[in-house]
Amino acid sequence: MGICFFCTTNKRVLKNDLAFALFDEFPVSKGHMIFATKRHVKTFF
Ligand SMILES: [Zn+2]
Repeated sequence: MGICFFCTTNKRVLKNDLAFALFDEFPVSKGHMIFATKRHVKTFF
């Protein structure tokens, strides 16, 4: 698997040992955030 946006972004505002969060650049509602795992995986499932 290649490097993706979530692996390289420096816009992380919250994090713990397993995951991190960042604000959506194109939010559907004010304050919308994206949570992602630190581990690079192909799909959520
Ligand atoms: Zn990745």
